[in-house]
Amino acid sequence: MSKLKAEYIWIDGYTPTANLRSKTKIVEGPVSDLGDLPDWAFDGSSTEQASGDNSDCALKPVFYVPDPIRGVDNLLVMCEVLNADGSPHASNTRAACTDISSKHSEHDSWFGIEQEYTFYNGTNPLGFPSKGYPAPQGQYYCGVGTKNVFGRDIVEEHLELCLQAGLEIAGINAEVMPGQWEFQVGPLGAPEVGDQLWIARWLLHRVAEDYEVTVTLEPKPVKGDWNGAGAHTNFSTKAMREAGGYDVIVEACEKLGKNIDKHISVYGDKNDERLTGLHETAKMTEFFYGVSDRGASIRIPRATANDGKGYLEDRHPPANREPYKVCAALIETTCS
Ligand code: ADP
Ligand code: MN
Ligand code: MN
Ligand code: MN
Repeated sequence: MSKLKAEYIWIDGYTPTANLRSKTKIVEGPVSDLGDLPDWAFDGSSTEQASGDNSDCALKPVFYVPDPIRGVDNLLVMCEVLNADGSPHASNTRAACTDISSKHSEHDSWFGIEQEYTFYNGTNPLGFPSKGYPAPQGQYYCGVGTKNVFGRDIVEEHLELCLQAGLEIAGINAEVMPGQWEFQVGPLGAPEVGDQLWIARWLLHRVAEDYEVTVTLEPKPVKGDWNGAGAHTNFSTKAMREAGGYDVIVEACEKLGKNIDKHISVYGDKNDERLTGLHETAKMTEFFYGVSDRGASIRIPRATANDGKGYLEDRHPPANREPYKVCAALIETTCS
């Protein structure tokens, strides 16, 4: 028997945008499956998940990875929040996502989420001067060199930590606004893609602490002629990935167009500030899809059109999107 540190991570009850919380449980090792990790509890009155006179909320481990910060004998543990009777707490969006995903499991849905985010140094985006603005956008996206790139050491460390944790990271890149970056998670099924995204976000906030830099997932951190931050969601079903898939993708786009209000309503707060029709977005009030079109609501990648199969990119979700809700909505609309 050896003791290890398990960081129990959960999503709080703040609205409209929830936050990550975590605390450490000392657990008897070795841990070889979820069943070896005990349920736990926390004070829900401090996280907007309960009232003070009935404050205990339960934490149920649902996914874990080695903790690359404390050393890989320790663990990062994603948890669902449950009520005292064991039912999912109102803030728990993972439970519903799991239900919808298993109901449509024959479609074998995959998701690749592009998480954009912005570093802040105090009250300014990293790379912005203390007064005024930096040079206009142009050379920052995938840029190199001191005048174009801000925070690369944090980004590199985060990528390395994610890989050590065994997360399915597809890539990283510097974004259009200074101090803005992206990492991609997937392709993975649901709810796994959400579990991995939340842990990758936790690692990002955590590693940024060491640099005294803040990470924000605000959809439009700087008003004006500066790009917002999204979380494009690349999506495919088995039928889309097979011969004849292009027609299935077009059919899915048509279905998404008919349900767009429902999608926008669960995709995240302040997305209207970002979806303006400028800065590689379509207006929130419009819907259209197109091959290779980064001004469209849904982009069909050029390679997918050429191959006649592949995936679609839903460009609506903002950086602060709640992944379980977005995945559930995409499955529900396209697979029903
Ligand atoms: P962009 O060109 O929009 O910047 P990225 O390369 O950043 O695209 O992200 C594309 C994402 O799509 C990656 O996370 C990748 O893993 C994912 N992806 C690739 N193939 C599929 C697929 N068949 N279904 C869903 N996601 C996919
Ligand atoms: Mn991308
Ligand atoms: Mn991007
Ligand atoms: Mn994209």
